[in-house]
Amino acid sequence: MPARILSGNAIRDQIYTELKQEIAALAAAGIRPGLAAVLVGENPASQIYVRSKIAACEQLGLGSWMETPPATVTTDEMLARVALLNARDDVDGILVQLPLPPQVDSKRVLEAVDPAKDVDGFHPVNLGRLVSGRAGLVACTPAGCMEILRRSGIALEGANAVVVGRSDIVGKPMALLLMHANATVTICHSKTRDLPGVVRGADIVVAAIGRAAMVEPGWVRPGATVIDVGINRITDAVEARRIFANFPTKLAQFTEKGSVLVGDVHPGVAEVAGAMTPVPGGVGPLTIAMLMSNTVRAARLRRAAVAGKP
Ligand code: NDP
Repeated sequence: MPARILSGNAIRDQIYTELKQEIAALAAAGIRPGLAAVLVGENPASQIYVRSKIAACEQLGLGSWMETPPATVTTDEMLARVALLNARDDVDGILVQLPLPPQVDSKRVLEAVDPAKDVDGFHPVNLGRLVSGRAGLVACTPAGCMEILRRSGIALEGANAVVVGRSDIVGKPMALLLMHANATVTICHSKTRDLPGVVRGADIVVAAIGRAAMVEPGWVRPGATVIDVGINRITDAVEARRIFANFPTKLAQFTEKGSVLVGDVHPGVAEVAGAMTPVPGGVGPLTIAMLMSNTVRAARLRRAAVAGKP
């Protein structure tokens, strides 16, 4: 039986409905959460990501600002911008779109963001809170994966979860979130021995690798849940034909547009898995939804912290 498709779009819509109520309640108290995005240079993918984040703010009625320093920006100039945004009371969330140009010290810039406004959850203070299981601002993509699992009724307690990928922004926080949800977690990476064998032991697989269609049907235990974080654009016709040999609709898309998206999981896994996220329309929409949710949360937490001061 083909896998149940876990639609990220439907779950995003649920989250937006809930957020709208929260935003209306904050508006009644005179608070309008706001997100400031800093987009450096002309990277087309980054421009698309930031535009969709700003569009989501507008859709939900959040405040939004976009700063666009040139690709020649220095670390000091970036630090000065972040300091100004940290000081602004109307800015609840600060997003520095990555990657930054090579002359900029990305780590210093990200660490300069006020942890209370760090809606990407990248600041060491928020990472530390995540490690110790305390509430804070959690990285959006792994937080979105958890929303998909929870809202789809996937049992986590006692489950064997295998996370493929150990990046700071996806793999590591994902593994921590699954562990805090009482799954038994294995983290895999490029040096893991017998990766297919390890993945085969999983009730839940999270693929965050950055390699097109790498997780194959033979790697997945029948009935397992598969969360595909990867987004890879295929522009090579031979590769498209290899991956999508049995998927005529995808091949037609490739022929029409000259490119097609695929995750880190082979689409044929849908014949084996019990449940699986699609690409596109799976984890992607949740990443933006969680950014919106973090912005609202940051607004609430920051106001509560101010109100709590003597
Ligand atoms: P990184 O490149 O930072 O990390 C990739 C990880 O995969 C590394 O830990 C690496 O291991 C591991 N890896 C690479 N090759 C192999 C291999 N052959 N076998 C086993 N492990 C391997 O990527 P990100 O975590 O930033 O992103 C992962 C994917 O998720 C990408 O496709 C990206 O586009 C996508 N993404 C999607 C988002 C969304 O909103 N849907 C948001 C963010 C990312 P090692 O550490 O040993 O090098």
